[in-house]
Amino acid sequence: MSDIDLLELRGVSKHFGSFTAVDEVSLTVRAGARHAIIGPNGAGKSTLFGLVSGTLAAGTGTILLDGRDVTRLPVHRRVALGTAATFQHSSLFMRETVLENVLLAALLRSGAGLGGWRKVSARTTELARARTLLERVGLPDRHDLAVGALSHGERRQLEVAVALATEPRLLLLDEPAAGMSPAETQRLTELIADLPEEVTVLLIEHDLDMVFELADTVTVMHLGRHLTTGTPDHVRASAEVRRAYLGT
Ligand code: ADP
Ligand code: MG
Repeated sequence: MSDIDLLELRGVSKHFGSFTAVDEVSLTVRAGARHAIIGPNGAGKSTLFGLVSGTLAAGTGTILLDGRDVTRLPVHRRVALGTAATFQHSSLFMRETVLENVLLAALLRSGAGLGGWRKVSARTTELARARTLLERVGLPDRHDLAVGALSHGERRQLEVAVALATEPRLLLLDEPAAGMSPAETQRLTELIADLPEEVTVLLIEHDLDMVFELADTVTVMHLGRHLTTGTPDHVRASAEVRRAYLGT
């Protein structure tokens, strides 16, 4: 982890009507970090990701990527700047094949756009990369299956491959291990641990074993607010965190 801030949130809030889902959150994510965000259901974690990836319209506050204000940029501009996300609710193309889903993301990244989609066989570079990624996430023999035929855990693995296909600098993972078997969770944990340091990881995860195995930095959110950020040991020892989780 470097001492450069890749992502910085300054006083970011998001309201849904009169409800405040994210409340004045300020946070920095170092380049190369394995930074986890934890907190009870409804804490505002996924909403915060939506603001960072751009799938949710900006509320108030400022979001900086590499010092550049991205608060009002649309999703595709943020992807071009290196932000990629998997979502708690899958965003895969269910009727396309596994390989096509990864390839589409790779083509979009390379600037080939949807025109390139028709000339799939010609795009050998992207094709080779897509195959390598599917191998890395543990889906080497699923290329030609429709996504709809995959198990839940396999879909989550595919989402990671799709996100990686865009060659992100900032990878947002929203509960990637949800619904996975222990073996699948272990493979995913190893995959994330093995990502090159050029990929900064921001991870929302309920599986605290996974969080404490992977993360060098942990942020705790509660009721839309930023409660604390620190090393895993700091967070584990925090009385405030125990109160938020256990209500004691
Ligand atoms: P988490 O991911 O930490 O479980 P969320 O960010 O999904 O929390 O949600 C935070 C709060 O915002 C929840 O109370 C949720 O019901 C509310 N919320 C999320 N999205 C919307 C929306 N589109 N409209 C209204 N309320 C929402
Ligand atoms: Mg969530």
